[in-house]
This record gives sequence, structure tokens and C-alpha cells, in this order.
Amino acid sequence: MTNSRPSSPRTAPVAVEVRAAEKVFANGVRALDPIDLVVREGEFATIIGPSGCGKSTLLRLIAGLTQPTGGSARLSPEAQSAGFAFVFQSPTLMPWTNVATNVRLPLDLAGIARTAAKRKVQHALELVGLQNFAHLYPRELSGGMQMRASIARALVTGTRLLLMDEPFGALDEITRNRLDRDLSELCAREKLTVLFVTHSIYEAVCLSSRVLVMSARPGRILMEVVIDEPQPRREAFRTTEKFARLSTGLSGMLATAMHGAPA
Ligand code: ADP
Repeated sequence: MTNSRPSSPRTAPVAVEVRAAEKVFANGVRALDPIDLVVREGEFATIIGPSGCGKSTLLRLIAGLTQPTGGSARLSPEAQSAGFAFVFQSPTLMPWTNVATNVRLPLDLAGIARTAAKRKVQHALELVGLQNFAHLYPRELSGGMQMRASIARALVTGTRLLLMDEPFGALDEITRNRLDRDLSELCAREKLTVLFVTHSIYEAVCLSSRVLVMSARPGRILMEVVIDEPQPRREAFRTTEKFARLSTGLSGMLATAMHGAPA
């Protein structure tokens, strides 16, 4: 594994710790070879890798949605108690009710009183810029706005850790760039910890403090690249020589990962 430089201060508490976690499904598919991964609080760590290499499986192990067949994947006690949220490519909003009620869902499930819930919903909508759209129904929203609502619902309980599985993969490029920029600002301002999966090298470079490149299945982490650029990322970063150099470097690594060249 190439490890350029420490990504976030070594002193930042650990939020996610994966130790030699592997996954073989019941049908014999070996999705993950043993993986070691530590994500520290405040980091924006991104996983890229070929389709089917086990990126979603790794996120699901960390979320406890599936169990490793060897090793361990766990959240720190602090991350566990503050809670985490999963954001998927599909916004999974309830079509029969409005944005506010959709965002309120986790609070309703937790039995939070209506007045407190209303305040939290308002705050979450402000975080994603949807404060004036609370009364709209999902069908009245663009794809980007639906995704914003999905992120607001993820944050409404005050969670500090987001596991995001290709959240913007279905959006057009302009909307995706806009959401990337806003997510970068949101995460820096709120000091969120993010583990993000994407197919887009540009998105990875734009958003991340660290990018992990996975091999073809069975997935393992081949390389790690630190993106040493202040957060939130300025729009102008995309047009810099540094951005081009990092993107080209990651493209090469991804090609190596896809063609199974020796690590
Ligand atoms: P990625 O997110 O990188 O595209 P996944 O983690 O979704 O990859 O899947 C990794 C591999 O494990 C794929 O070959 C997929 O078909 C297989 N897989 C995923 N879930 C299951 C399952 N429940 N049972 C058997 N195989 C699975």
C-alpha cells in the first residue's frame, strides 16, 4: 500500500475501524479480502474501485448491515452513540408525503416530541438549502433536491458520520458538481466524518481528504492518496494543475486496479 502522508491529524479520534475484515457470501462469492481501514473524525475518505469490487459490501459491514466472515468492522463508541446515517444513490423518499415529513421520519421513529422535531427538521433543511421547500412533495422536486432532502433526513438526528454509497451517481453533471460543492462546504462547516463511495475520480479529488483505491474482486485496498488541499474545496480547485495531476494519478491507479496488475 502506498501511503503518501497522514490525512487528518493523527490525534483525531478514530470514528471507524476495520481490522482484517473479509467477506465471503453464502454462495461462495469472495467479495472482500482482508481489509484494514481507519477513518478519523473530521475526515472525508473516499473509496473508488472497479464495479463489483466490494465497495458497497465494505460500507454495509461498517454499518452492521452484514457481518464479516473474518476480522471486524466497527464504529467507535462515540460514533455509535452519536449515530450514523447511510445515504444511497436512490433518495428513497416517501412519495405520499411532503419534504418536512420525510425529513422528520427518523425523529418520529425515535419518538421525539413534535415541537423539538419541528426545530430539528427546520435546521436540517437549512443545512441543505431546502428551507423554502418543506411543503413540496418528492414528485415536485428535481433529482438534486430529492438528494438534498435525503441528506437532510440523514442529518436530522444530529449524526456526525455519513456513509454515502454513490449518492450523486444518478444526477446530471451540473447538478452533481453543485451538490459536490455544497457537500464539501457542509462537511467542513459541520465537521462531519464521511466515508464516500464513487465511480468518479473527479468527484473523489474534489471532495476527499483521502482516497482509497480498491482492487478488482475480491476487493482489497491497493493504494491510498492524500488530497492535501484545504476544505471546503474552492470551485477554482477543479481547474488547477494540482487537480489535474491528482486526477491523472488516480486514473492510472484505477486502471492498475481494474487490470489486476500486481500491487
Ligand atoms: P461494488 O459496490 O464495488 O460494485 P458490491 O459490494 O456491491 O460491489 O459487490 C461485491 C461482489 O459481491 C459482487 O460480485 C456482487 O455480485 C457480490 N455480492 C454482493 N452482495 C451479495 C450477496 N448478498 N450474495 C452474494 N454475492 C453478493
